Amino acid sequence: MKTNLLDFSLDQLTAHFASIGEKPFRARQVMRWMHQMGESDFEAMTDLAKSLRAKLQASAEVGVPHLITGQASTDGTRKWLLDVGTGNGVETVFIPEDDRGTLCISSQVGCALECTFCSTGRQGFNRNLSTAEIIGQLWWANKAMGVTPKNERVISNVVMMGMGEPLANFDNVVAALQIMLDDHGYGLSRRRVTVSTSGMVPQMDRLRDACPVALAVSLHASNDTIRDQIVPLNRKYPLSELMAACRRYLEKAPRDFITFEYVMLDGVNDRPEHARQLIELVRDVPCKFNLIPFNPFPNSGYARSSNNAIRIFREILQEAGFVVTVRKTRGDDIDAACGQLAGQVQDKTRRQEKWMRIAEEGRQA
Ligand code: SAH
Ligand code: SF4
Repeated sequence: MKTNLLDFSLDQLTAHFASIGEKPFRARQVMRWMHQMGESDFEAMTDLAKSLRAKLQASAEVGVPHLITGQASTDGTRKWLLDVGTGNGVETVFIPEDDRGTLCISSQVGCALECTFCSTGRQGFNRNLSTAEIIGQLWWANKAMGVTPKNERVISNVVMMGMGEPLANFDNVVAALQIMLDDHGYGLSRRRVTVSTSGMVPQMDRLRDACPVALAVSLHASNDTIRDQIVPLNRKYPLSELMAACRRYLEKAPRDFITFEYVMLDGVNDRPEHARQLIELVRDVPCKFNLIPFNPFPNSGYARSSNNAIRIFREILQEAGFVVTVRKTRGDDIDAACGQLAGQVQDKTRRQEKWMRIAEEGRQA
């Protein structure tokens, strides 16, 4: 089998090249061809020695996932479904804004965690994506979006907020992050790349040491009773441990802050007393809040909080001095909004069956 060079960060590619008798600067050249020029054909990498091109042709490949479909929303949001083999597909979403272009990337086929309000969680889990499949999403989107008239990259920000829990696929995600930040890769700045986690405490510490990018934490609740129910991982890493991990994360980057994501679920976590409890909970963590109006999907069992409830919740946090944004729903018409990414998951956990049964019982009751 050929070695997929898209699986390697620069350090890993350099080591691989050393093992085939090639100098480090060759690795940098190939890195730039693959990621900056979007080139997948070694023959087209014209400044490589002919002998190296032949060697790579015989033993290696630039293996990007195949594109199944691309869709564009009326609001400019775009979504791609990429084939990752054996009937599985993952989704990538591009969200244009006035001052930036953000790509939302998936890290797993499905998700092994089971947050009750998330359609990816309902889909079950198949496997981790490889580094090539993760960075391949940026590779494709860059090719599709091109550069601005000023020759700047259209994609200025990356968020790991697509399908899956990025920190549950630690090594592959970190290698992909390194390629995003590398000057020979995509050259994105550390603060423009965000990992979103549902709160895997030990891996948050490891990320801080390996690649301290911006961190978003899916908080969604102001106390353990509610969080235990909607984010089951909380039973393993309760809020006190999660807050301590957030503080430790910022030790490495003292001018940074944590973004707390908070999905607004009608009657579940959206009351004024929850907002007041939150203020206490995060008091020692430099942070911002991002309130996400719940995006419904079939048989979710939840409803989006009213605009009024969201406004009051926001005001309470703002009056306590927090910066609060309310996430605009984008790409609704192509099911590209948060928590709606479903891709194609050949579920290995039989979770889809379970939820179908629960929905069926609910209809009969
Ligand atoms: N697994 C990671 C990243 C992917 S989810 C995490 O949980 O953080 C990206 C964000 O969308 C998370 O904050 C997630 O909780 C939120 N989300 C999931 N389902 C949603 C839904 N139906 N409506 C709105 N936001 C949702
Ligand atoms: Fe997984 Fe994140 Fe969805 Fe929870 S919210 S099920 S961690 S993708």
